[in-house]
Amino acid sequence: MNNPATLSGLSHDDWINLQAAEKYIFGGLNEDQRDAYEEHFFSCYECAEEVRWMAIFEAKEKKIFDAPAPGV
Ligand SMILES: [Zn+2]
Repeated sequence: MNNPATLSGLSHDDWINLQAAEKYIFGGLNEDQRDAYEEHFFSCYECAEEVRWMAIFEAKEKKIFDAPAPGV
């Protein structure tokens, strides 16, 4: 057990301070943190949006390396 109680007890501000959305997408959260963060953003609109933006940003970054920009 890796302190799951503590992780699921993290508040919105705690996740923001951890830059959890960025780490969730780009890697940087351990398994317990990912699970706890998922639980949080399923019920937190702000964090869900943050994750969505990070995912879009990450996809764009990949495209930059994969192919020339399509001209937005
Ligand atoms: Zn949140």
